[in-house]
Amino acid sequence: MSAKKRTTSAETQKRNSAAVEDYLERILELINTKGYARVVDIAESLKISQASVTNMVQRLDGEGLLKYEKYRGLALTASGEALAQNITRRHRILTDFLRLFGLDEDVIYHDVEGMEHHISPPTMNVIEALTQQLSRQPALVARVRAET
Ligand code: MN
Repeated sequence: MSAKKRTTSAETQKRNSAAVEDYLERILELINTKGYARVVDIAESLKISQASVTNMVQRLDGEGLLKYEKYRGLALTASGEALAQNITRRHRILTDFLRLFGLDEDVIYHDVEGMEHHISPPTMNVIEALTQQLSRQPALVARVRAET
C-alpha cells in the first residue's frame, strides 16, 4: 500500500471517530436536558437528515455504544456513555479556557467543536491546569486580552 493511501485511510478514520464523538456528545446532551434522545431530536440538533441519523445510530448500536429500538428511542451503553462523557469533558475544558479571553461565544463554540476531536489527553490536562492557574491571575489574563 502506498504512503498516500495510508494517509487517506487514517484521515477517513479520524473523520469517522469525530462523527461518532459528535453523535455521542449530542445524545448525552439530549438525555441530560430532555431525559431522552430520539432520532428526530438528534437529526434536528445536528442538522442532518433522519435517514442519515438512523444509519449512524444503527452503526453505533452494532459497535456496542448504544441500544436502539425503533419505537422506544435509544440509550447509551456503559462504553458509549464513557466516550460521551470524555468528549463532553474535552468540550467543557476547551470552552472554559477560551472564555478566559473574552472571545465571541460563536467563535468559541465553532473552534471547540473542531479542536475537541484532535487534542490528546496530556495536552488536555495541560490546558485544564493552565486554565486553573490563569483564572487566579486576572492581571495576566487582562494583559493577554489587551494584546489580542
Ligand atoms: Mn463539542
